[in-house]
Amino acid sequence: VISTTRKDCAALDADDPFKGRRDDFAVPEGTIYLDGNSLGLMPKAVTARVTHALDVEWSRDLITSWNKHGWFALANRVAGKIAPLIGAGDETVAVTDTISVNLFKLLTAALKLRPDRKVILTDTGNFPSDLYVAQGLNSFLDDGHTLVMVEPETVQDRIAENVAVVMVTEVDYRSSRRHDMRGLIKKAHAHGALVIWDLSHSAGAIPVDLMGADADFAVGCTYKYLNGGPGAPAFLFVHPRHHGAVAPALVGWWGDAQPFAFRTTFEAAPGIARYQVGTQPILSMVALDAAMEVWAGIDMRALEKKSHSLCRVFIERVEERCGLKLAGPREFESRGSHVSFHHPHGYAVMQALIASRVIGDFRAPDMIRFGFAPLYNTHVEAFDAAEMLAEILDKRLWDRPEFLQRKSVT
Ligand SMILES: *Cc1c(COP(=O)(O)O)cnc(C)c1O
Repeated sequence: VISTTRKDCAALDADDPFKGRRDDFAVPEGTIYLDGNSLGLMPKAVTARVTHALDVEWSRDLITSWNKHGWFALANRVAGKIAPLIGAGDETVAVTDTISVNLFKLLTAALKLRPDRKVILTDTGNFPSDLYVAQGLNSFLDDGHTLVMVEPETVQDRIAENVAVVMVTEVDYRSSRRHDMRGLIKKAHAHGALVIWDLSHSAGAIPVDLMGADADFAVGCTYKYLNGGPGAPAFLFVHPRHHGAVAPALVGWWGDAQPFAFRTTFEAAPGIARYQVGTQPILSMVALDAAMEVWAGIDMRALEKKSHSLCRVFIERVEERCGLKLAGPREFESRGSHVSFHHPHGYAVMQALIASRVIGDFRAPDMIRFGFAPLYNTHVEAFDAAEMLAEILDKRLWDRPEFLQRKSVT
């Protein structure tokens, strides 16, 4: 039995409270783009803003642009646009560097707050770069710190008095499994541990309430669901109770209390600004600032509802038509906004899909992954993508030498 028809999907799209938003994005012709969890579509407003930054701010006004066009305060302005999407308060978010670098800063700050504890607790669903940063730091510290890696389902049970920091990604980048943020923080705090969240697959996809959940620290990505552009600066969050208490090990003049006093001894800026290090990539920051305009007034609960609806159609159709095994839990409240299925020839299947203009990606060892960006994806796209996948599998269209050849980015 076919439960949701294409016509049903069109009706759902007609009722979509976000349907007007799709026009805010450059959507490539003839393409079903289901990779907004990896690199979001470009908001059309970016072009004019970046052009202005090039033709007026850089070419003509040059150095005066730091003041005249607000370059110096730009990262802070962008932070103010991201904060409401993740339940962060004023002056608790910094936009800068990459997630990996920001994680290093937060880990060093957190470990300094728990000098008597040596364990960083994480799980096997965490992103490799996050794990590498902790491994590199431990090796540098060389004083008995260890990264303890457990299965995601057992993290809460493993929190004990020796744990300094729990470091986890809220939504698993492969399976879409979502941690219980409130429960985990509560348990960690009861045992005197701090928690660092990676919100890469949360920000712009699902509601996040950092202050409400009493979060200590978080990092997140702006080029995925937030559509900030390739390599756009990442963000970090620090709860105000930790602001004055500690500074990260990686500091620089942008995090000094008076950068333009050019003093020879560092003195951390009072608030979140101490997590800035050096000069920001202004062109990227301008693009991100323009991109964040599409988020003004977005109700994250309504967005989550649409995400569930899109994922429901896709999961239902793929299971019905293709019989593939879903990765991660089935309950939507325990998932993010992407959907992965296992397939032994996943890489080739995804290459065949991409050749048919359905863009998702592949995550080793065997997952084909589809991101549903609720701001712009439609139910009809979810339906059509599932149909295309079914055709590729039915006719074994993936079984061709050009689809088996691995590229450097998967
Ligand atoms: C995309 C992603 C990153 C990226 O880290 P960068 O250092 O900004 O490249 C980190 N963590 C997770 C969970 C991700 O999905």
